[in-house]
Amino acid sequence: MANSAQVIIVGGGMVGAALATSLGQAGLGVALVEGGAAPTLPQDDGFDLRVSSLNLAAERLLAEVGAWERIPQDRRCPFRRIHGWSQQGHGEARFDATSLGHDAFGSFVENRWIRAALWARLAELPTVTCYCGVRPMVLRQAANQVELELDDGTRLGGSLVVGADGARSALRELAGIQVESGDYDQRALVINVTTKLPQQDVSWQCFTPHGPQAMLPLPGHHASLVWYAKPDTITALEQLDPEALRQTLERDFPARLGGVEAVLGRASFPIRRQHARRYTSARCVLIGDAAHVISPLAGQGLNLGLQDVIALSERLVAAHRRGQDLGSAPLLDAYARQRRPQTLAMIAATELLHRVFTGAPPLRQLGSLGLAVTQRLPLAKRLMMRQAIGL
Ligand SMILES: Cc1cc2nc3c(=O)[nH]c(=O)nc-3n(C[C@H](O)[C@H](O)[C@H](O)COP(=O)(O)OP(=O)(O)OC[C@H]3O[C@@H](n4cnc5c(N)ncnc54)[C@H](O)[C@@H]3O)c2cc1C
Repeated sequence: MANSAQVIIVGGGMVGAALATSLGQAGLGVALVEGGAAPTLPQDDGFDLRVSSLNLAAERLLAEVGAWERIPQDRRCPFRRIHGWSQQGHGEARFDATSLGHDAFGSFVENRWIRAALWARLAELPTVTCYCGVRPMVLRQAANQVELELDDGTRLGGSLVVGADGARSALRELAGIQVESGDYDQRALVINVTTKLPQQDVSWQCFTPHGPQAMLPLPGHHASLVWYAKPDTITALEQLDPEALRQTLERDFPARLGGVEAVLGRASFPIRRQHARRYTSARCVLIGDAAHVISPLAGQGLNLGLQDVIALSERLVAAHRRGQDLGSAPLLDAYARQRRPQTLAMIAATELLHRVFTGAPPLRQLGSLGLAVTQRLPLAKRLMMRQAIGL
C-alpha cells in the first residue's frame, strides 16, 4: 500500500520547502521528499558563503508562510540602492527603491537561514509529512494518480508530483523531460569579507571585460563579494591564502569597496544556464532550478523559483477549494503557460547582460552606453526597478 498525499514534492531546498509550507498552510496533504537531512536553525554567528538577494515579492511569500519572522533581523540586510557600471566606459546606472515609494528592493539573506526558517515552519503543519535521506527511484504516471517509489522502498501515491530537486533533478529524468543547457566558460568566486566601511544599503556590480565584480552587503561591516572570471583565473584566486586574497581584492576590486579588513571564507561555483524543454508531463511539474538555472549575475534564480511557488500554489489551493483534480492537464498547462514567458524573459535579460559586457569591444561600448542611457531615462529605470522588486 502506498502512503497517500495530495501533492508529493521532491526536493526540500528553498523552493520545494516554500511550496510545501504554502500548500500545508492551506490544509493540503503534502509529502516532502528530501535527499539530505532536515536542516535546523543555524547556531553559529559566522556568515555562510551562500547568500541570496530576495526581492520584495519573495520576502512577502516568506512572510505569508510564516518563515520570514524566524530569520533574525540581524541576519537580514535590506538594500535600498543598486549601482551598475562598466569598468571601461563612462556609463553608470543608479537605482533607488525610495523613488518607487519602497524602503528597499529586498534583502540579502544567507540561504541556510531561509531554508531552516521554512523547515521550522513545516514542522508545525500537520498535513505535511517529510521523508528525509531518501530519493525517488521509480515514477509511475497513471491517468488518475501518480506513484513514486523511494530508494528505501517507501511508496507514495498522490494527484501530483512536483520536481523541486534542483539543477540535476532526478524527478525530471524519471519524467523523461529534456533540458537545453549552455556553459559560459566562467566561474563565480564568492568571498565573504569584513570591510573597513559599513556597506549596508547598497549593492553594486562593476562589469569588467572578464566578467562582473559584485558587492552584496551583509549586516554591519560584512559583505559577500562575487568575482566572475574564466575558470583558470578563479582556480588561481582560490589557491591564494586569505591575506594574499585580501591584498588582491584591495588592488583589483573597484575602489568604492574601501579597504578589506579580512577574508573570512571563499568558494567557487560554475556559471551555467539550463532550461527544461517542458515544465510538465502527466501529473508532474518542475519548479525552481529543476526547471531553469540562470546565471547568478542578476541575482534572480531563487526569486524566479519563488515566483513559480506563488503561481503554482495559487492554482493548487484554488483547485483544492473547488474540489478539482490537482494534477489535471489543464491546470498544469495553464501554470506552464503563465511561467514560461516570464522565465524566458529573465533568461534573455541575463544572457544579454552577459554577452554585452563580456563580448568584443564594440559590444562592451554598447553596454556602457546602455547604462548611461538607462540612467537618463526615468521610465526605463522605473520598469527595471519594478522588475527588481518583483511585485
Ligand atoms: C553563486 C550563486 C549565487 C546566487 N545568488 C542568487 C541571488 O542573489 N538571488 C537569487 O534569487 N538566486 C541566486 N542564486 C540562485 C539560487 O541559489 C538558486 O536558484 C536556488 O538555490 C534554487 O533553489 P532550489 O530549491 O530550486 O534548488 P536547490 O537549492 O538545488 O535545492 C534542491 C533540493 O533538492 C534536494 N535534492 C536533490 N536531488 C534530490 C533527489 N534526487 N531526491 C530528493 N531530494 C533531492 C537537495 O538536497 C536540495 O535540498 C545564486 C546561485 C549561485 C550559484
